[in-house]
Amino acid sequence: MEIEIATVGGYEEVGRQMTAVRAGDDIVIFDMGLNLSKVLIHDNLRTEGMHSLDLIDMGAIPDDRILSDLDGTVQAIVPTHGHLDHIGAISKLAHRYDAPIVSTPFTSALVEEEIDDEDKFHTDNDVVQMNAGGTMSIGERCELEFVNVTHSIIDAINPVLHTPEGAIVYGLDKRMDHTPVIGDPIDMKRFREIGREGEGVLCYIEDCTNANKKGRTPSEAVAREQLEDVMLSLEDYDGGIVATTFSSHIARVTSIVEFAERIGRQPVLLGRSMEQYSGTAERLGIVDFPDDLGMYGHSRSVDRAFERVMNEGKENYLPVVTGHQGEPRAMLTRMGRGETPYELYQGDKVIFSARVIPEPTNVGQRYQSEKLLGMQGARIYDDVHVSGHLRQEGHYQMLDALQPRHVIPAHQDMAGFSGYVELAGNQGYKLGRDLHVTSNGNTIQLVG
Ligand SMILES: [Zn+2]
Repeated sequence: MEIEIATVGGYEEVGRQMTAVRAGDDIVIFDMGLNLSKVLIHDNLRTEGMHSLDLIDMGAIPDDRILSDLDGTVQAIVPTHGHLDHIGAISKLAHRYDAPIVSTPFTSALVEEEIDDEDKFHTDNDVVQMNAGGTMSIGERCELEFVNVTHSIIDAINPVLHTPEGAIVYGLDKRMDHTPVIGDPIDMKRFREIGREGEGVLCYIEDCTNANKKGRTPSEAVAREQLEDVMLSLEDYDGGIVATTFSSHIARVTSIVEFAERIGRQPVLLGRSMEQYSGTAERLGIVDFPDDLGMYGHSRSVDRAFERVMNEGKENYLPVVTGHQGEPRAMLTRMGRGETPYELYQGDKVIFSARVIPEPTNVGQRYQSEKLLGMQGARIYDDVHVSGHLRQEGHYQMLDALQPRHVIPAHQDMAGFSGYVELAGNQGYKLGRDLHVTSNGNTIQLVG
C-alpha cells in the first residue's frame, strides 16, 4: 500500500498545525490549527467573518490546497486536542471535506464552539466523539486508534493510523506525565506495544516544541506544588491577590481554585475564555468545581464581579483572570491600565502561572503588562509553571518505545528542529534517509 505524508502546516512555526496521511486511497487529516500570532499582530482583526484564502495568505491557517495533489479521499479529520493551534482552522477548512471530525469529548465540545462562532462558512461535518483507547475503521484496510497522552489541556490523545505497512503515530502534543492532576497518565504501555506488534511503526511525527531543551519536562504535579508553595506563603496577606494562567489549562485552573479556597479566599474566574473553557469542562462533568465558583465572561458581568470584590473586600477573593501573555484586551492587562473597577494597591500580588511564549509579540506585550501592574504597586510572581511539551529525554524515551522506521520532526521552525535532529542522529537516523526535516506544503513518500 502506498503511504504518503503531506506536511501542510506547522513545519515552519509553532502554530497552524496540519498533517495529512494517505494510505492507499484513504486520507486522514491530523489537526487544522491557527497561528494566533499572525492574527494578533493586526489590531482588532476579527477572523470570524474572514475568508480562508485571506487567512492562508496571512499565514494564519494552513494552506491545504496541497491536498489536491494527494490521490485519495479524506476519511476523517482528527484534532488531537483543543488548543487553537490544532483546532482553530477547522471552522475555515473542514467544510471543504466530506468527512467527520473525530476527537475526544472535551476537544469535540471546543470544536463545536469554534464552528458556532464562525460567521463566514457553514460547517456541517459530523463531529464524532471517540475516547482514548477507542478505534475506528478507515477505509477497508486501515484503523484509527487514540492513545491517551498528557498535555497542558485535558483529554489530549495521540492518534495512530494502523496500515498494512505499519503504524503512523502522530505525536503532537504531549509531555510524559505520570501524575497529571486531572485524567489518566500517559499510556506508555500502549506505545511500547504499538512499537512491537505487527509491522511496528512505519513513521513517527514528533512535537519538537522543546526539542532543544535537555532533561525531562516535569509533571503537572510539580506545577501544582509550586502553586501551593506560592499561594500558601500569601495566606496572611490581607490585600489583593490575582492569578492568571492559560484558560484552557483546566488542571492548572483547578489547582488555583483549590489553593485559593485553602487560604480562605473565594476564587472567581473572569474573562471570556476563562468562562468558556472552564464552563465547558464543568458542563461535561470533567471537573468538579465548588458550587459557588463564579465564572464571568461578558465585560459587564466581569465589571459587576469586580465591583462586588471591591465592596466586600479584596482580601476575601482571588480573581483568576485572562492575560498571562499580556494580551492587550485581556483582563489582567486591562487591570494594569486601570480600566476595571478592581484597584491594585501597593503590595498586591499577581501570580503568573504561565511562562512567556518566546515570541517577540508576546515578550513585548507581557513586558508592558508587567510594567503597568508594577507601576500600581503590584508584586509579580513569575513562571509558576511547567511546560506541556516533551524535552529531550522524553523524545529519547518515545523513540525507544516506538522504534519508528521514519521520523518527521514537527511543531517548530528549522532552528527548533536542530535539537531533535541531533538526538535522532545519535539514535542512528540519517537526514534525508529516515529522518525527514521538511517545511510546509511538502509530501514525503514513505512507501511507493
Ligand atoms: Zn497543545
